[in-house]
Amino acid sequence: MSNTDFALAVEDLTVSFDGFKAIDKLTLYVNRDEVRVIIGPNGAGKTTLLDLICGKTKASAGSIKFKNEELVGMDEHLRVRRGIGRKFQTPSIYENLTVFKNLEVSYPTGRSVFGALGFRCTDEVRARIQAVADEIGLSQHLTMEAGLLSHGQKQWLEIGMLLMQEPELLMLDEPIAGMSARERELTADLLRRISKDRAVIVIEHDMDFVKQIAHKVTVMHQGKILAEGPMDAVQNDPKVIDVYLGH
Ligand code: ADP
Ligand code: MG
Repeated sequence: MSNTDFALAVEDLTVSFDGFKAIDKLTLYVNRDEVRVIIGPNGAGKTTLLDLICGKTKASAGSIKFKNEELVGMDEHLRVRRGIGRKFQTPSIYENLTVFKNLEVSYPTGRSVFGALGFRCTDEVRARIQAVADEIGLSQHLTMEAGLLSHGQKQWLEIGMLLMQEPELLMLDEPIAGMSARERELTADLLRRISKDRAVIVIEHDMDFVKQIAHKVTVMHQGKILAEGPMDAVQNDPKVIDVYLGH
């Protein structure tokens, strides 16, 4: 497989904050249809890596190619349009709007003929909202105010808001933090389903959850990759046990 066939190809990526290299010559490839989980101790640079891919933070050096197009230097909003969706740790939903409205406002206006003239909820948009609501398990809650959802449901709604844009790369930072056991299970199912047509990158600490969803695990440490491979190999790697799993 050549490097141009990956959904995401990160090569020699570096970012320095006042001389401190939070990401240090990191190289990483992610396939379409893959769930990649990134693990590693606090401060390893996991969140910073997602910041660099989505454009929130500017790279100091190196390359980030998405479907073989260079992202370094591209504006954050253009990266969203190219198909990159990023979920942050705290959900950013509109608490006083209904679930339906939250999904509706997330429909990419650029794709609607009414985009410039103000939004009209067409049949096409409604169908998409319904499909996404089914996917995230909230089709029975469309008329509910989002603020009344459980913590887990709010997380799924935010994933749904990203899915409205049909991202080809979806990045999630610690999506199950604070969830109940049942919500974790449902989230694992959800992530497996939504990786069918896209690449998914998940940062997670919960090893049982990682085992359930990961096709491949990347272990980060001090801005570099310490190990990478299937979960069972990574888990038995003495280097990984030493810096992360042993604690
Ligand atoms: P992780 O998500 O793996 O816990 P982070 O990516 O949040 O780690 O942080 C990696 C390192 O980079 C930490 O030492 C953090 O303090 C530092 N860092 C992250 N963002 C910035 C920033 N904008 N300015 C300065 N230092 C930062
Ligand atoms: Mg983090």
